[in-house]
Amino acid sequence: MRLPRLKTVRVLTLLLVLCASAGVTAFQHHSSRSWTESLQVSIYPLNGDGSVKTAQYIDALDPEDFTLIDRWAAREAERHGLPLSAPVQVALGAPIDTLPPTLDENSSALQTLLWSLRFRWWAFRHTPDAHSLKRVRVFVVYQQGRPGEALAHSLGMAKGLMGLVNAFADDHQHEQNLIVIAHELLHTVGAEDKYNADGGPRWPEGYADPSLGQRRVQEDAEIMVGRRFGHQGLIMADSLQGVRLNEWTAREINWLD
Ligand SMILES: [Zn+2]
Repeated sequence: MRLPRLKTVRVLTLLLVLCASAGVTAFQHHSSRSWTESLQVSIYPLNGDGSVKTAQYIDALDPEDFTLIDRWAAREAERHGLPLSAPVQVALGAPIDTLPPTLDENSSALQTLLWSLRFRWWAFRHTPDAHSLKRVRVFVVYQQGRPGEALAHSLGMAKGLMGLVNAFADDHQHEQNLIVIAHELLHTVGAEDKYNADGGPRWPEGYADPSLGQRRVQEDAEIMVGRRFGHQGLIMADSLQGVRLNEWTAREINWLD
């Protein structure tokens, strides 16, 4: 049976959009993980609670504040023998005034898919300077937070090379914010979470150095967990200084054959 013309055009248009989107995703997947040149990462701050304090915090951010991520990635790449001395270059972009669409934690698969399309559209509209398809964009929503109340989850998506980080607008939290940014950034290039059911490190792939054995107390945390067992139980790493990228993660992001 012949399809009506309008319907044919619609189907063809949808197929074209899907093919183009799949093509862009395949290109990004390949280029972001080839490690022949530094992966460019732009950080865009947002004021998550609209407060003056958060606005002042964002105003005071300095590009230098984020170069610790570059140095940490360089240190870890060298440890894994990657022949690229600066695998990641982070730059601080201009603040964005409009908040991204929110995703409810109990969303269905379809709602999550629709949200991710809205998020990509929002990013396209608010970062018009992001011409390069090879650049990772991490949107950091800073907020004051309330005592005892956890921030919404952060996330990183390989599709579109985008991360969304919820962070405390507090100088004392800056180094831990960098851990979350590095974690979500690594999700965009293929790294997977390595938590166990309790949110601790899964044995052995969630451990910074499994060769030391499954001890309760460890010195370093693995980046795709961010936590380690200390003397008092599970604790978050203080800074990237105490975080490593282990062999499992190195393989996932194509640092190792
Ligand atoms: Zn994660």
